[in-house]
Amino acid sequence: MTTKIPAQEKPSGKTARKNVNIEKNARRLELIQKRLDAGLLSERFPQIASMAIHIVQFYGVTGQVFVERTIHMVPGNNLYLLHMTCMEGNCHNGGFDLTSKVEELVRNNRKAGKGKMLCGKADASGISHASISYDISIKYS
Ligand SMILES: [Zn+2]
Repeated sequence: MTTKIPAQEKPSGKTARKNVNIEKNARRLELIQKRLDAGLLSERFPQIASMAIHIVQFYGVTGQVFVERTIHMVPGNNLYLLHMTCMEGNCHNGGFDLTSKVEELVRNNRKAGKGKMLCGKADASGISHASISYDISIKYS
């Protein structure tokens, strides 16, 4: 049995584009892996019957609303739903992870909690990052 090996691409201007694609694929694979690593809501928080999270994301500089959404979660949902990407254009791999906030509420037997968060990559570099405000309500089983 012979395996057909695809012909080599000619070294040309295509190389740069190829590298971008490789980077894109790597990022997509990383995202899939993160989803797998996150696991299900039922695995991490078996006591939660359902949960609703309202999130508003704001621009770092102007404070204007970027995006607003409500996430409804049931035990079969992937915990990765608790991650939100930082929408600021210059932000690389930043974002928000509400898992620890949910954990805190569960630990204290609280049904609701709200607060604010700054992008995890925000630092003194001067690049502006988004922030969010969140409102979590939990129904226990
Ligand atoms: Zn950011």
